[in-house]
Amino acid sequence: MSGKRSRSHKAQKVLERMAQKLNRQMVGSLVACVHCGMCTDSCHYVLANPGDPTYAPAYKADKIRKLFKRHFDWTGRVFPWWVKAGSVFTDEELEELKDTVFGKCTNCRRCSLNCPMGVDLATLNRMARGLLVSVGVMPEGVAVVSKDQWEIGNQMGVLKEDYLETLEWMAEELQEELDDPEVSIPIDKNDCEVVYSINPREVKYDPRSISDAAKIFHFAGESWTMPSECWDMTNFGLFSGDDDLGGSVARRLYEKVSELRGRKLVISECGHGYRSTRCEGPNWARLDVPFEMESSVITMLRYIREGRIRVDKTRNTDSVTFHDSCNNARSCGLFEEPRELLSLVVTDFREMHPNRAENYCCTGGGGAMSMSEYTPRRLKSAKIKADQLKATGAKVVVTSCHNCVDGLTDLIRHYKLDMEVTQLVNLVANALVVPKKAPVPAEVPVKVPVGVPAEVPVAVAAEEALPLTGRTIVVADDEPDQVTLLATILEDNGATVFTASNGDEALDLVHRHRPDLLTLDLAMPGRSPGEVFELIRRNTDLEHLKICVITGRPELRKVIYDRSVAPPEGYLDKPVSEEKLLRNVRKVLELAHEDG
Ligand code: SF4
Ligand code: SF4
Repeated sequence: MSGKRSRSHKAQKVLERMAQKLNRQMVGSLVACVHCGMCTDSCHYVLANPGDPTYAPAYKADKIRKLFKRHFDWTGRVFPWWVKAGSVFTDEELEELKDTVFGKCTNCRRCSLNCPMGVDLATLNRMARGLLVSVGVMPEGVAVVSKDQWEIGNQMGVLKEDYLETLEWMAEELQEELDDPEVSIPIDKNDCEVVYSINPREVKYDPRSISDAAKIFHFAGESWTMPSECWDMTNFGLFSGDDDLGGSVARRLYEKVSELRGRKLVISECGHGYRSTRCEGPNWARLDVPFEMESSVITMLRYIREGRIRVDKTRNTDSVTFHDSCNNARSCGLFEEPRELLSLVVTDFREMHPNRAENYCCTGGGGAMSMSEYTPRRLKSAKIKADQLKATGAKVVVTSCHNCVDGLTDLIRHYKLDMEVTQLVNLVANALVVPKKAPVPAEVPVKVPVGVPAEVPVAVAAEEALPLTGRTIVVADDEPDQVTLLATILEDNGATVFTASNGDEALDLVHRHRPDLLTLDLAMPGRSPGEVFELIRRNTDLEHLKICVITGRPELRKVIYDRSVAPPEGYLDKPVSEEKLLRNVRKVLELAHEDG
């Protein structure tokens, strides 16, 4: 006797809602798989469970694919047995699907990268998670974290008073450390250049990362603030597949930044926070975000390049390796900036293999740290990561992701590795060369600029007034307008300036005049600026010569920074304003009284 199988209410809803999720990208991944198996060994679960086909990316995707084929694709309707189409009927079957999409995949996208057909399993997996969440089928941890983010506004349930108290406490610590009662963590300040948003984990478990960031903003002279509420840049919607949650969380933060009239949102080191806030959030929230968004990794690097902060890498001498977070690297292309920053703040960097887009997941991604029922499975799959870490021989693993900090810490403990985990913000803060409070030197006549408001501390006015008299500077640039601009500003401030329009002339002038500073464009005819830079660096007679790169082609900076000589003392992107140029030149020439 044959009869139509009845379907549970939840199973029915899952199928109905699937229809609403099928966009072009999703359908592409649902139909393109040719089961070639090339993605199989990409997955850390497969590597840890040889012989178990249920971990293979294509097998996992087929659990979702069969529903599409049965209900939305004509081949599955006509020849279901041929194309392996199938449906879902019971709540138990939904639980089995839950075990696969939450418990056997961290949405790391490593398999997606290795699929010649462009199948993005992580996108399918996230969709399936969202469908299950919409009918209440999910790990308990996912339900708890989602609820906190919906109701309290952040995914760790941090209350507003605890958040504000932590910021106040960190500001006090910083004042004590720097012996400066003026240092602060500004809250809800309007019209700032930077609004800084963080991961609630920092408030709960790692407040030091907040004070380290504050220290960096302070010495960079940044106009910055933190919001008193709607400050969480993480977004559990990315992990749970719930686009409504994703949109609501992202919108709250965007609206808060707009309310504060912030010009740029800086996102602290967190892979999924960066991806959710900068890349996915505007789509989920259906919002045209009116300000720029930037990872704090890029912000810190920019400050060093622009000479706004100075760092001394000899303060971080432990051997260090770098773990690329899946979301930062594979999904957002943030590979080189953290490495460039590391090269400036540590002395012993050892690359992990494979790395960048091919790096393995920390195994705590995709919200896995909140799903305790899968912990043994997660730690077993972490074997490949543990081997990768061990092979570097490094004492410290650095990662720009709070989720990875937790995932790595857990596996380091489990596999008894002799390593610790840290983030770039901690290393940069540790390497920071703290300027002394500039006393007014008796012998230097202080020219207080007209219009300096009374509340500006004398020390700042004095620093700004320090002239370039007695300094010799070579300006090397092939654009005549740029040469005129730079030379005029520098001469107006007392410097003696010589100009060069190509690399050979620049070399000739530095040998003849032995200047204090060379400003070096990176795109000039003749001898390449990279070669000029290296020749100067390797010439012991020119040891005193400071170099400030000024370029309109930041993509060329590798020609300088990839060399095995000390990096330039300063870096500026064009266009260059008078204020920016003078601030940098003074810092490079150490006219800001730093303690080294
Ligand atoms: S997902 Fe891509 S790589 Fe994996 S089996 Fe299918 S076609 Fe091959
Ligand atoms: S997304 Fe990552 S965890 Fe998921 S199947 Fe692919 S490689 Fe494995």
